[in-house]
Amino acid sequence: MDNISDLIKRAREAQAKAYAPYSNFRVGAVLVTKDGTTFLGSNVENSSYGLTVCAERIAVFKAVTSGEKEFAYLVISSSGMGYPYPCGACLQVLAEFSPELKIILVDEADNIKKYWLKELLPKAFLFNQ
Ligand SMILES: [Zn+2]
Repeated sequence: MDNISDLIKRAREAQAKAYAPYSNFRVGAVLVTKDGTTFLGSNVENSSYGLTVCAERIAVFKAVTSGEKEFAYLVISSSGMGYPYPCGACLQVLAEFSPELKIILVDEADNIKKYWLKELLPKAFLFNQ
């Protein structure tokens, strides 16, 4: 894994690019593949609120559409409210590709918490299982 402080810096860079004019809640995500390639995501809101997409899913979709499907780490930062736990939809999308994913949450002061995806979503829906 890259140095955690480097990954936090990259998550903050992604966070700065969030489009969040409605909530002002900015989220950055760095998805690291098993071979070390990184994909950044930031949340993109919409005036039709239900069309908003989370930073985590944007990072996953960028990776998958670049041909990557095996992930090792996801680092998530936000602009406040403590640790940025991923929503259920993002956890489900992540479980599709990497049930063994490590998720690292970063609070406003760069404190971290680490979880396995299975800890946050122990019973993911996986077709044919
Ligand atoms: Zn989400």
